[in-house]
Amino acid sequence: MAVLTNLLDLDPDQLIAYCAELGEKPFRAKQLQRWIHQFGVSDFEAMTDLAKSLRDKLATRACVRSSAIISDHTSSDGTRKWLLDVGQNNAIETVFIPEESRGTLCISTQAGCAVNCRFCSTGKQGFNRNLTVSEIIGQLWMAEFELRKTKGINSGHKGERQITNVVMMGMGEPLLNFEPTVTALKLMLDDNAYGLSRRRVTLSTSGVVPMIDKLSHKCPVALAVSLHASNDALRNDLIPLNKKYPLSELMEACKRYLQFAPRDFVTFEYCMLDGVNDGDHHARELLNLVREVPCKFNLIPFNPFPESGLKRSANSRIRTFAEILLAGGIVTTIRKTRGEDIDAACGQLAGEVQDRTRVQERMQKQTEYQKKFGPDFGRIVEITG
Ligand code: SAH
Ligand code: SF4
Repeated sequence: MAVLTNLLDLDPDQLIAYCAELGEKPFRAKQLQRWIHQFGVSDFEAMTDLAKSLRDKLATRACVRSSAIISDHTSSDGTRKWLLDVGQNNAIETVFIPEESRGTLCISTQAGCAVNCRFCSTGKQGFNRNLTVSEIIGQLWMAEFELRKTKGINSGHKGERQITNVVMMGMGEPLLNFEPTVTALKLMLDDNAYGLSRRRVTLSTSGVVPMIDKLSHKCPVALAVSLHASNDALRNDLIPLNKKYPLSELMEACKRYLQFAPRDFVTFEYCMLDGVNDGDHHARELLNLVREVPCKFNLIPFNPFPESGLKRSANSRIRTFAEILLAGGIVTTIRKTRGEDIDAACGQLAGEVQDRTRVQERMQKQTEYQKKFGPDFGRIVEITG
């Protein structure tokens, strides 16, 4: 049997092209796109305003399929986490964080991560592979319609949007899986799909400088940069990628990005690690580092995991650190930790890889990946397209 085309893999223009191949006009692609992304319908037969002949054609050639749900847990604070099967014994995580005036979905872009930051359990599991477009956008598709279902709104009905914001802060480095990430972003912003504004979609990166520039041209959404250190020596130790793209280059890239960004600031994420990066002198060094970059700081209390050997800074230390930044004129927030009881907090997304025996193999893959691209590590997506 021929392989079915998963329509979740296609961006708006590709869907128009696909429909053209079937002899259909562009407006049919728009209708189809609305059925899929606005009504959560995957059964072509239920797409009642499409001609029967088109529905029949689609039924034999296409499908709308997101990754299978392995588990679905809701935390005592309302945070909901799905574990999704992406094949070959790999799982990724998607987390929904409800708040009074918005609902934020945190999505993954890779199975594992090659950057290998010292404080991140995703990095510690090694790199396995890039996610496809359907695996990335499929997280939003699945979550939006699962959340509606929980509220009693079934697919095919127009329901109130549950997800108002998306952050690419789950597993993986989105800028090292560039093309599929950008295609998924385009669907998030498209009026016939999710219609989110660029301000409500945030991409978080560990600092892949050339890709920050590329993103500014292709799809400038709100940018968050994982800083975590106030000088290169410390950052080299925490985020190996810093050796390739040091802080001076990263700061320049942030300034360039802001000319295209939907917000007039970059959000710097800073994970508070006890005795490592949380001293008063670090805060003062940060003020100097970012003095030419319009920015906001988000201090993240470290979420410990056993292998890290690192500890979370005390709350009083985090507050003092924040006060120094605030006194220096920088808007600073401290992130509330959510979903800790279901391991859904930042950096705890390890994918609960089903087969623990393959960790060695994945770690080796991570090392090979870094070796292979050597000085070009960080340009990987350009090479692989
Ligand atoms: N790879 C991207 C996006 C995913 S990580 C990046 O690094 O930005 C999302 C955020 O969680 C990043 O700011 C990351 O530094 C932070 N993070 C990772 N591990 C963490 C941990 N154990 N505790 C708190 N934050 C963590
Ligand atoms: Fe990868 Fe981000 Fe984790 Fe670093 S913090 S290992 S870049 S997912």
